[in-house]
Amino acid sequence: MRLNPFNPGSVNVGRGGGGGGLPGGRGGLGCGAIVIALIGAVVFGIDPGQMLGTMQGMQQGAPQQTVQTSESAAEICNDNAYALETCNALSSLNETWEPVFAQAGIAFEQPRLVFLQGGTENTGCGQASSAMGPFYCPADQTMYIDTRFYDQLEQQLGAGGDFARYYVVAHEYGHHIQTLTGVAGTIRSAQSQSPQRANQLQVLMELQADCYAGAWAGRNRNLIEPGDLEEGMNAASAIGDDTLSRGSGRAVNPESFTHGTSEQRMQALRLGLETGDDRQCDRIVEQSG
Ligand SMILES: [Zn+2]
Repeated sequence: MRLNPFNPGSVNVGRGGGGGGLPGGRGGLGCGAIVIALIGAVVFGIDPGQMLGTMQGMQQGAPQQTVQTSESAAEICNDNAYALETCNALSSLNETWEPVFAQAGIAFEQPRLVFLQGGTENTGCGQASSAMGPFYCPADQTMYIDTRFYDQLEQQLGAGGDFARYYVVAHEYGHHIQTLTGVAGTIRSAQSQSPQRANQLQVLMELQADCYAGAWAGRNRNLIEPGDLEEGMNAASAIGDDTLSRGSGRAVNPESFTHGTSEQRMQALRLGLETGDDRQCDRIVEQSG
């Protein structure tokens, strides 16, 4: 995609500390602080179930948010080529979605983007690390990305190309949309009411985020280049729960799926891309009944 250079005034970015996490802070988080990650299965030797357990265990006493930086957006975004791409995408996502919210009469707020640098990080959702892959934390409305993930995406999962990376950013942004519209909260209560459907509901939420990612690109059709579509589909396929399970040598167990199969993820991304219509994406979760 030929994205325009980001406008430093239109992105809210920060940089995570490197290694060891950040000291101090007492804030403390209640239960229910939960992160929404891009991928659901074991990818980098970390079991997400285990990871979540770790996070919940560590939430006690974790400060609400300690990511602080005096660096300018321009400095942070120009750190490396991937960071720049990510900021360009964020800027475009803000410009694309703000008017959609205005039209729907829903208050809009830009998400924050924090570049993780390895090590652990205190977030509004507890302590997190780069090893979890990109994620969104509803509690602080922040997307967390370690740009080294993009190398893993390409080298370990075979999903290269700029559009694959934009899809990651746009997917996390999709979770921000869900937070602003209230869909995330609705799903969360449905999950606590019927825990046996929790994974199933999570899948719908992830597919909707994929669809929103596609809808962003579909609304910027003039910027799409040859090969983008293929890169997007390839990435969506690579991070499907079934494909990730197989890749990690685990049994494919549909009941444990949290993000959808490769086929479902490709379908959701394609639906958004082809229609550019967020209402198509809304319907994905409306089916959850
Ligand atoms: Zn997600």
